[in-house]
Amino acid sequence: MTRKEFKAESKKLLDLMVNSVYTHREIFLREIISNASDAIDKLYYKTLTDDSLSFDKENYYIKVSIDKEKRILKISDTGIGMTKEELDENLGVIAKSGSMTFKNDNEIKDGYDIIGQFGVGFYSAFMVAKTVTVISKAFGSDEAFRWESKGSEGYSIEPCEKDSVGTDVILNIKENTEEEQYDEYLEEYRIRSIIKKYSDFIRYPIKMDITERRLKEDSEKEYEDYTEEQIVNSMVPIWKKNKNELGEEDYDNFYTEKHYGFDKPIKYIHISVDGAVSYNSILFIPEKTPYDFYTKEYEKGLELYSSGVMIMGKCADLLPDYFSFVKGMVDSEDLSLNISRELLQHDRQLKLIAKNIKTKIKNELLNLLKNERDKYVEFYKSFGRQLKYGIYSEFGMNKDVLQDLLLFYSSTEKVMVTLEEYISRMPDEQKYIYYAAGESIERLDKLPQTELVADKGYEILYLTDDVDEFAVKVLRTYKEKEFKSVSSGDLGLGTDQKEDSSRADEKNYQELFEQMKNILTDKVNGVKASKRLKNHPVCLSSEGEVSIEMEKILKSMPNAQEIKANKILEINTNHEVFNSLREAYEKDRGKLDLYTDLLYNQALLIEGLTVDDPVEFTNNICKLMK
Ligand code: ADP
Repeated sequence: MTRKEFKAESKKLLDLMVNSVYTHREIFLREIISNASDAIDKLYYKTLTDDSLSFDKENYYIKVSIDKEKRILKISDTGIGMTKEELDENLGVIAKSGSMTFKNDNEIKDGYDIIGQFGVGFYSAFMVAKTVTVISKAFGSDEAFRWESKGSEGYSIEPCEKDSVGTDVILNIKENTEEEQYDEYLEEYRIRSIIKKYSDFIRYPIKMDITERRLKEDSEKEYEDYTEEQIVNSMVPIWKKNKNELGEEDYDNFYTEKHYGFDKPIKYIHISVDGAVSYNSILFIPEKTPYDFYTKEYEKGLELYSSGVMIMGKCADLLPDYFSFVKGMVDSEDLSLNISRELLQHDRQLKLIAKNIKTKIKNELLNLLKNERDKYVEFYKSFGRQLKYGIYSEFGMNKDVLQDLLLFYSSTEKVMVTLEEYISRMPDEQKYIYYAAGESIERLDKLPQTELVADKGYEILYLTDDVDEFAVKVLRTYKEKEFKSVSSGDLGLGTDQKEDSSRADEKNYQELFEQMKNILTDKVNGVKASKRLKNHPVCLSSEGEVSIEMEKILKSMPNAQEIKANKILEINTNHEVFNSLREAYEKDRGKLDLYTDLLYNQALLIEGLTVDDPVEFTNNICKLMK
């Protein structure tokens, strides 16, 4: 016999789960039945793809039995079974898929979250059982093994007898406590209703011995208990059912049962198509971002079925990257069961389905945006970034699909708005869609560069996500209106007086500005009289494709490239400070050095950049105070 400890993190998770106040203990049965069904799928798939194996429908089922006296609930399947190694590997570790990091135990008070995030399916058995025994015989093997565990201490594996291929999961149900009635998991009606609730659509029969009181034969008042094996699930997969027969709860249940996520989906899409290609599909738009969503580990894809048999867990080709958050499944009779991954990629039917699905998702999102704005805004908080990545990836190829799904914060409306809404409010004389990029709304509200545009009464879109400005650059225009940063050299506000006077300034103070540029060396590309400042003495603006905000983002990336914005130091010639500059230029060049350095560093700070040399900066302030 082999005795083993659980891996440390599994142990911790087990303890948490068993001891957490958890209101959904009943789902353990769903988890075990779903594993059983997957195991049968695997064997079924083998027989369908291997001619030397025969298929007899009768041989595929799940049996649930109860022994009240011994407090045993047993779930047997005729699936593919597990070898000794597989028992050890599959049941010795929770959550093979994700690396688990708990910041603190309080973070996961509700067991629901644990199960959701890490898919601890099988282990939920310990919520109701004091001992869990798994007896399994793998397909193609003539040995059977017994895996047994009482929970967090560890488990044992030893050889045993089992006639047929498949797996028995045997739960020794806990005794009742003051808080919990475990006895209910030994009640036939209760178990039956749990199966109905969560596992009704499982494709294989789930059998139970059901006992009913019946009139004795040839008698009119005498009753006897009559036990009969019955199939308790309807076996019709939800995606084959008629939409009118299904309610939101059915879809929600399916979502949870399938481990698509443990939030409540914001939207479900049920598609049945009969045409050039026929398929059924149920898709979900989750509410919350999965913990690994914005990492390399996240794998997009939909489950792919061929005539009801799952042929792939995550078919990536069915979803474009920008919709990678969508969960769900596709079942089609037009796909071959034997198809390999490589061939599938080029399959014409699959491409048609993918195209179809893409359009459906887009339309559903637009509907959500139009009809349930609050929900859409929630969705956008979780996945808006992905849509924006979609805009700038593949050289903007998908911008037409995505641009109407975008939301940005509006300086005037103070909420998230669409581009369509923005341009519908533009006054006739306004030529551009103005935006300001920075790290937060609060900061952007105070940004000097926004003053003049805001003063004109124009709406400004605040771009606070690091992908935003890149996406906007790729879009370039929306409905023929060009995007314009409030920090760009020319704001295109028309030749008003301000501009004329600043041009005149430019000439008058040419020498002063040149001198300042020399002091700053190559930190800036130029010093100019500002056309946009009203109350602030200085700001930085940029010329060319790369903005200061973009420079910041590029710098913070893992393999940072030295891409720099062409910075211009803008001086407000109407500000009192400017008079001091002029005076210093004429009378005291040492002071001009100090002033220039201070103003430049102030401009950096306003932009959310760090000053080049903090010690020198503070020394300079002190010098001036003396
Ligand atoms: P998940 O089902 O999410 O992978 P589980 O902890 O529920 O996680 O199961 C772990 C693994 O154990 C499964 O992926 C499967 O390989 C194996 N397994 C569980 N139950 C069975 C079963 N009844 N028959 C065959 N294999 C099983």
